[in-house]
Amino acid sequence: MSLSNIRLHRPQSITEAVNLLGELEDVRLLAGGTDLLVDIKQGLIRVKNLISLQDIEELRGIGEEQGKIRVGAMVTPHQILSSSLINQHIQALADAARSMASSQTRTLATIGGNIASAVPSADLPPLLMVADASVILDCGTSREVSLSVFFTGPRATVCGPGEVLTSVCLPLPPPGTGFSYKKLTLREANALAVVGVASRITMSGEKIGNAAIVLGAVAPTPLLARKASDLLIGKEPSESLFDESASLAKKEGSPVSDIRGSAWYRQELIQVLTHRALDEALSRARS
Ligand SMILES: Cc1cc2nc3c(=O)[nH]c(=O)nc-3n(C[C@H](O)[C@H](O)[C@H](O)COP(=O)(O)OP(=O)(O)OC[C@H]3O[C@@H](n4cnc5c(N)ncnc54)[C@H](O)[C@@H]3O)c2cc1C
Repeated sequence: MSLSNIRLHRPQSITEAVNLLGELEDVRLLAGGTDLLVDIKQGLIRVKNLISLQDIEELRGIGEEQGKIRVGAMVTPHQILSSSLINQHIQALADAARSMASSQTRTLATIGGNIASAVPSADLPPLLMVADASVILDCGTSREVSLSVFFTGPRATVCGPGEVLTSVCLPLPPPGTGFSYKKLTLREANALAVVGVASRITMSGEKIGNAAIVLGAVAPTPLLARKASDLLIGKEPSESLFDESASLAKKEGSPVSDIRGSAWYRQELIQVLTHRALDEALSRARS
């Protein structure tokens, strides 16, 4: 489809964008365009109108507000990986951003687009989920939705057609918390994850007080490996505990075979990457 047939709208505020969404037909929001413009050019999506979010200042910036880190929807992976606030509190989110695409795409793509496109192999959602993140959706009034219930299927979410995802909220992690994101790709750059694993460990004295493991690219949506996570809680970390948790995570994923890897290979990867992610999260929690 030719882009010249599409009308581009450039609202200056969230309210203006929401109003345009309500008024226009065959319309999509355009953030960095690294997913959407590819789909339009390939004829997978047909639209008459695009609403660019580029001029909306309210959608930018990373800051701390009332015990939470707020990341604007138009923040790019490059801004995430260079943010001192993110690197101080959730270093693995910077790692996940750094692992995305190529430096060119990292300066164009946005966190809002990475979440809203709901591609099962996307890198930021698993890490955001272990960090208990929520998103703010605005359609004139706003609502906060936990990422744990945001994704409903491949490229499907609870975000309504009249809603704009305006920001991502991350609670400041308690002391003694460490995060990790491990992924395998077939090339160093511009390659989607064959499997991605995010983990969080919060220590309480010598024992694990809280833990979460979320798997990417092995199910229709990012998947909380509940049994593998729950097994860790209340126990002293050890090699054998992490082995057992990684084996459980392997059983919880339901990967498919595709161009990037077979279901069998992905299942083996879940086990290996979960163990590595737990090791790194523990080491960060202790330091
Ligand atoms: C070469 C290449 C390599 C890539 N590598 C990776 C990778 O390694 N890891 C990875 O995770 N992804 C990768 N991607 C996918 C893509 O870059 C990311 O998903 C990116 O974060 C999408 O953000 P965007 O701003 O470009 O979204 P857009 O393409 O602008 O939008 C994507 C979708 O989200 C909707 N949307 C965007 N913003 C909002 C909002 N604020 N509210 C509501 N809906 C919204 C749009 O309407 C559209 O449907 C790659 C893409 C390319 C082209």
